[in-house]
Amino acid sequence: MRQRRIETVQSQPQEPAIASPISSAYLHIPFCRRRCFYCDFPIAVVGERRDRTPSQSIAPYLTALTAEITLTAARSTPQPLETVFFGGGTPSLLAPEQIDQLLTALDRTFGLAAGAEIAMEIDPGTFTLAQLQGYQSAGVNRFSLGAQAFQDDLLQTCGRSHSVAEIYEAVEMIRRAQIDNFSLDLISGLPHQTRDHWQNSLEAAIALDPAHLSCYDLVLEPVTPFGKRYRPGETPLPDDDLTADLYRIAQTHLTAAGYDHYEISNYARPGFACRHNRTYWENRPYYAFGMGAASYTDGIRFSRPRTRQAYYDWLAAGAQRPDAPETASDRLLETLMLGLRLREGVNLDRFTPSEQTQIRATLAPYAAQGWVILGADAIALTDPEGFLFSNTILASLFAQFDPDSAPW
Ligand code: SF4
Repeated sequence: MRQRRIETVQSQPQEPAIASPISSAYLHIPFCRRRCFYCDFPIAVVGERRDRTPSQSIAPYLTALTAEITLTAARSTPQPLETVFFGGGTPSLLAPEQIDQLLTALDRTFGLAAGAEIAMEIDPGTFTLAQLQGYQSAGVNRFSLGAQAFQDDLLQTCGRSHSVAEIYEAVEMIRRAQIDNFSLDLISGLPHQTRDHWQNSLEAAIALDPAHLSCYDLVLEPVTPFGKRYRPGETPLPDDDLTADLYRIAQTHLTAAGYDHYEISNYARPGFACRHNRTYWENRPYYAFGMGAASYTDGIRFSRPRTRQAYYDWLAAGAQRPDAPETASDRLLETLMLGLRLREGVNLDRFTPSEQTQIRATLAPYAAQGWVILGADAIALTDPEGFLFSNTILASLFAQFDPDSAPW
């Protein structure tokens, strides 16, 4: 892998500079071969592209993304990035030269720290061995493969554009490229998914020996085909008891296989937790670039327009962010909501003494129930029961600190 140059660029600020030190960047690559039936992400469908040629619509988007990177760096006090994440969408629909173009732009403007984690989502059936090696040469050193399930009928039910055989082909290429730091994504709670399906998927995933596994529970988004077709907890979706069982089964199987359940949905071999995502869970600031991408800078959370044209128009108009930072209660609740996803939980020194007293009082009944650990310095959810009932626990915290903003 080529070692990238580390540099920072001091540019003339054009509006109030982004002040806090930020060392993580998310880049949204919004292209997919088709739209999966559960997905409401901001993406553009580019067709199957079995010949692996990049879609013509990608190049103008990368030009816009590069412009946003340059503009943001000019408004910031850039420091070398410790983590970069290419998410999507399907970033492996980009040619290695296109990933290189974006990393070069980040390197030129912010700099890339030595040893930075540079992660990329990839989908089965969208890349070749040469492409993977090209991404590595460009600097990518962590790959996350969207497997989702190891049953062809379930993949088809979800509208996924790949087969189980293509998952195995993808992992074979990952092996041949000698990539150790790779993750597999799985989804539980799919329509028609049984306990046996889920166990088999977990066992198949473990047999492939990834360094990391993400296990997400299906969320029914109203605008998606699944959201329109199914109702939570009703056949063919699993009921609440089965959903909880699937969570416990993942926890049992993966921890028995030596994975550390370090976050509510994530498991890793020692040393392979995702550094980029920790930035989110620790409620630290990060840049984001691209349509629909959400950044957190200067206490301001901002989501960019969700279609390409609206994103291009926003960029052409100066890429303005709102200037109202979050309130103290927003920050407190975000810190709790994100931090309690981590097994080690949240350190109480992030809160004032009065907030600590209120948090302890709110969580005391859940501690008695065995769902929460109230330590001297930190609070955490228990694994798996506290994680399973995290929404109930968080609802109480919202009711305590900001009843109007509860997301439930
Ligand atoms: S591949 Fe991922 S981002 Fe693309 S449509 Fe499917 S779930 Fe959504």
